Amino acid sequence: MSHAIEDRLSQALTDLRREGLYKSERVMTSPQGAHVRLADGREVINLCANNYLGLAGHPALITRAREALERYGYGLASVRFICGTQEIHVNLEQTLADFLNQPAALLYSSCFDANGGLFEALFDESDAVISDSLNHASLIDGIRLCKASRYRFPNRDLNALEDLLRKTAKARHRLIVTDGIFSMDGLEADLAGICSLAQRYEALVMVDDSHAVGFWGPGGRGTAEKQGVEGQVHILTGTLGKALGGASGGYTASSQPIVDWLRQRSRPYLFSNSLAPVIAATSLAALSLVREETRLRVRLLENARRFREGLTALGFELIPGTHPIIPILLHDAPRTQKMASALLEAGVYAVGFSYPVVPQGQARIRTQVSAAHEPTDLDRALEAFERAGRETGVL
Ligand SMILES: *Cc1c(COP(=O)(O)O)cnc(C)c1O
Repeated sequence: MSHAIEDRLSQALTDLRREGLYKSERVMTSPQGAHVRLADGREVINLCANNYLGLAGHPALITRAREALERYGYGLASVRFICGTQEIHVNLEQTLADFLNQPAALLYSSCFDANGGLFEALFDESDAVISDSLNHASLIDGIRLCKASRYRFPNRDLNALEDLLRKTAKARHRLIVTDGIFSMDGLEADLAGICSLAQRYEALVMVDDSHAVGFWGPGGRGTAEKQGVEGQVHILTGTLGKALGGASGGYTASSQPIVDWLRQRSRPYLFSNSLAPVIAATSLAALSLVREETRLRVRLLENARRFREGLTALGFELIPGTHPIIPILLHDAPRTQKMASALLEAGVYAVGFSYPVVPQGQARIRTQVSAAHEPTDLDRALEAFERAGRETGVL
């Protein structure tokens, strides 16, 4: 028997390790939160979760999840259209649609699936899909699965987008696709600019707002709300795995015909299990909290401001902005890895990213603050950054 594949992959894995590109998984023994306990017993301040509102461990959600487990059971063992639709699934879809100011919504096991099952079901050879170059992997893969002509514009470059809109005038439908917030930078798409181009060229706009829904914009409804263009986004996708509780699940929200068609034809929706009852029910509670507890949102943004100001005062170079994704540019990949290790020694868990995840020469530590952080957590984290920065020669 030949072991050619194992030999080839072992070599490739060795190469990854040598190039510093190997991703290892740090094991935790605690729930997700502002502090986490690592397998070696250390307790550290966590600055790398997408737990923006701190809902992953919120007592009200844990109570709701327990009740839901009792009432609706653990699993459904079915896809939606056979015997996998409970009242909570229908209720959550309607609640998400109402919250996002869209006529309808449908649930997926993840936002990766929502994006994977979107384009192929709606667009074919007659259509053109125009996508931002920094869009999430799931958008890239979803677009690859569909037969439409595909175009890409450099990140947030509306002039290049307009050129492509001119070039694709003959397409039946044209769809502009963008993340609402770009996760490596914490920067917003210019949705107002995109929507105005879309209107001028009669194109559709699709936004994946996974890093925004729940806390961004005055009502926490995301990037379109923040920029005053909510009615102009035709298709919205997002995750339940970040601000909205952090378990898992995703959704697409759009017009009734688009959502109805996706229920008939979207492959990850049709051929993958229903969202677990406990997640459907608890996500409803998460959305209620988002609506009622504006305090969490205010606290998150206040924490982001405080941490950004502290890092800047220490002399670190940040990508400017106000989003709770706060990237600290170190430029150099080995130094970034050293900095992440020094931070962990100092009691702070944050992750370094380098090429090819970010462009060459833009290696960085990406931090994310949460409403679960106390101001004292952030002060302690700043002390750790100062110490680690001096140790590694960054400061
Ligand atoms: C996190 C993320 C996803 C994936 O969401 P899951 O629900 O974890 O599959 C998709 N798109 C964007 C923009 C994301 O940030």
